[in-house]
Amino acid sequence: MDIALPTRRDVLGALAGTLLLGDVARADAARRRREHFLFGSPVRLIARGGEATLDAVMAELALIHREWNAWKPGGELGRLNAALRAGRAAPASVPLQQMIAMSTRLERDSFGFFNAGIGAAVGGWGFHDDVMRPGDAPREAERRHWRAASPSLAQLELRGGLVASRNPVLQLDFGAVAKGVAIDRALDRLQAAGVHDAIVDLGGNLAAMGHTVEAGRPRPWQIGIRDPHEPGVIATLAPRGREAVVTSGSYERWREVDGQRVTHILDPHTAAPAAAWVSVTVLHPSAAFADAAATALLVAGPQRWRRVAERLRVTQVLAIDGDGRGEVSGALAPRLQFADAATRRRMTIV
Ligand code: AMP
Ligand code: MG
Repeated sequence: MDIALPTRRDVLGALAGTLLLGDVARADAARRRREHFLFGSPVRLIARGGEATLDAVMAELALIHREWNAWKPGGELGRLNAALRAGRAAPASVPLQQMIAMSTRLERDSFGFFNAGIGAAVGGWGFHDDVMRPGDAPREAERRHWRAASPSLAQLELRGGLVASRNPVLQLDFGAVAKGVAIDRALDRLQAAGVHDAIVDLGGNLAAMGHTVEAGRPRPWQIGIRDPHEPGVIATLAPRGREAVVTSGSYERWREVDGQRVTHILDPHTAAPAAAWVSVTVLHPSAAFADAAATALLVAGPQRWRRVAERLRVTQVLAIDGDGRGEVSGALAPRLQFADAATRRRMTIV
């Protein structure tokens, strides 16, 4: 049973960095959609494919969610982290080994602003929890300990399917890249099943391929980038070919610590929450790459992001600060339709 593609209006709901639950309520059975909660956010799949294909994609996303959660003990990552803390080696599946290898390269190429080995500090700041409770900041001695230990994925050894660490403080947390990996996998699986028009949206991190239809004719997808300061969209764009639009936002997960809001994104060099950019959006053919890069550039902040982007070879970037001012890369600027002239004037093309 094949059905019509989703319309453009449906897809304006697929906003990077936003959750459009009103859209979910209107979902009708005739369109191929799947809605679930994974990674703490809604996941939406809009595609023209058979029921079985979409169910298989969702099952795979659920598996990633279960196995690679940094704070749930039941999965593969939880078991590996427990072993690393105890100074023991533990087995890692091939996908997990690939994740480690990719994250090691991304750490190196981002000058360590993306670092999937800082799980201890992320947990210490209270972000390894489903509920964000107010509380105290970690003690300075503890922060010094994380900084001095300087965890890096380069300290991992992979031998015969076993992973060992030279650093017992190193705890893996793939929160900054796993959604991207999941999105890429979902699109790969859809393509392998012959589906070429789709959007996969994990809590506002999304990738699109192919087209949608409007009045029976193929039209480009339209993606909105969320305004981090106000409800609504700061800009819209049409993805090119298969392309991911991933936003890292300090507003996405935060806690009140000593009366102040602190974000879940940490600077691995200081073991403190990143403060400068409020959101960074990266476009890239690979959602995994865009995800890790967006996190790295948010941490790098206004002074350093361009050097990091250059080294990562990321060319399509939009970064917004706490006052609503932003910087947009020269390659991305002509592709963006800003919400209004005032918004555009607050952006500097770099
Ligand atoms: P994202 O929303 O993609 O920026 O990912 C943020 C999540 O990644 C956090 O909730 C942490 O689990 C983890 N994380 C925080 N800071 C970093 C960092 N500098 N490098 C890698 N992962 C991080
Ligand atoms: Mg990320």
